[in-house]
Amino acid sequence: MAFSVLTIIYLLASVSFITGLKMLSNPSTARRGNLIAAAGMALAIFGTIFLYTDDTGTKLGNYSWIFAALFIGSVVGTMAARKVKMTAMPEMVSLFNGMGGACAALISIVEFNHLSHEIYQSAGITLNDIFPASASYSAWFSEMAIILAGLVIGAISFAGSMIAWAKLNGRINDFSFKGQHIFNIVLFVVVLGLAGWMAGVYQNANNMVFYLILVLSLLYGVFFVLPIGGADMPVVISLLNSFTGVAAACGGFLYNNKAMLTGGILVGAAGTLLTILMCKAMNRSLLNVLIGSFGASAAGTAKSQVQGNFKEINLSDAAILLSYANRVMIVPGYGLAVAQAQHSCHELEKLLASRGVDVKYAIHPVAGRMPGHMNVLLAEADVAYEQLHEMEEANEEFPTTDVVLVLGANDVVNPAAKSDPGSPIYGMPILEVELAKTCIVNKRSMKPGYAGIENELFFRPRTSMLFGDAKKVLQDLTAEIKNL
Ligand code: NDP
Repeated sequence: MAFSVLTIIYLLASVSFITGLKMLSNPSTARRGNLIAAAGMALAIFGTIFLYTDDTGTKLGNYSWIFAALFIGSVVGTMAARKVKMTAMPEMVSLFNGMGGACAALISIVEFNHLSHEIYQSAGITLNDIFPASASYSAWFSEMAIILAGLVIGAISFAGSMIAWAKLNGRINDFSFKGQHIFNIVLFVVVLGLAGWMAGVYQNANNMVFYLILVLSLLYGVFFVLPIGGADMPVVISLLNSFTGVAAACGGFLYNNKAMLTGGILVGAAGTLLTILMCKAMNRSLLNVLIGSFGASAAGTAKSQVQGNFKEINLSDAAILLSYANRVMIVPGYGLAVAQAQHSCHELEKLLASRGVDVKYAIHPVAGRMPGHMNVLLAEADVAYEQLHEMEEANEEFPTTDVVLVLGANDVVNPAAKSDPGSPIYGMPILEVELAKTCIVNKRSMKPGYAGIENELFFRPRTSMLFGDAKKVLQDLTAEIKNL
């Protein structure tokens, strides 16, 4: 009875994950989707705790340990999620993702210990006692292969995510050495080779080899992410996320747990798709991401020599330009999130629309510091989703746009990505704001953005700089337009 109830619970949980994921694709349903998937996860967790029994009919037990861990995890998670600033979200995603990877690796360690304990410490027990003689090789191979896959992928995901977290919050800098490409590939091949040998040839639950694979996987995770520079971080974070999903799915195989399997596969697939989309958006091949260290050039290590004079515009001139335009395109970037100016931006947009101006937003896929950052930010201020235009669409519209208002964006509008092969962001598709009749750029200074490079756009004849904190500038602009 309990088994069938648990099966139904796992089915419901799996359906809730799929429904939740589907609902995440639209900002209007995303919040509800998240809650539905979380409810499904809670159902699966409590179902397992109270209804699971093993072959001998024994329940899980250890309730005080389980509930103490659940309590501590829930308190820490809730506090972290409540306190985190939107701009620090990628760091938190990295940290939590790393915890998922660590859990998957720990599951593998625990299950490996079960196996080796059964083989070595219970007197007289051999491999054939554990796996039926007829199927001993394939049973051993499949169990060990899943344990090792969970260990390797989980450990890489954990170590890589911790490095990504430390890099994003500035605790450590990019680091690479000559020949790191080769070193990474060799390390990866050694890890795969050892794991394949242990599962397929050696057929022995040797602790030394197992823990060597763990240490080398952790090392690979570190060296995989350490050299990757600013502009490529989103791809890596999304890739590590998919690793964690696959590692969790390995746990689902091990325990024959359908909900864990579905959840892991969904995270793995969604993370992989997002990685591919991000690669496309940044014009990077997935192979480059997989062998690591391609982005060492970015994040402040390179500075292109852009020189010249820039033009400044004052508030009243900017207000006139905007309110007498037919078409205005707003380009939000990381600075808008820093200034928390999304509500002021929406106010300005509504005011311009009430005066007959056609106002739209152009969203670059890697604007801000996390995938979908600008969508989330603008949704917070109730900006209508239909007003947001993706990069390709926006680029077609720039030539017929009167005024582009760039708000705290820099790298995503840097023409060097198209014209300077030496630039660390060369090849990344950008919002081609320079094609509009006029471009007003709001930021606080001439400092570079995340990739640490100068922006020639600021020196172009059609561009004018409007300096100041985005929120204050937008509020002053709104007041100025109201007085016109
Ligand atoms: P950038 O980081 O390139 O530039 C942001 C600009 O905002 C800065 O030049 C800064 O200039 C300005 N700014 C900061 N604070 C304020 C403020 N209060 N008011 C007004 N302006 C402000 O941002 P983009 O969005 O253009 O590009 C995103 C970058 O981040 C890309 O390089 C991307 O690859 C990277 N990245 C993206 C991730 C993602 O998933 N989206 C994740 C990690 C990295 P000043 O200091 O002069 O004000």
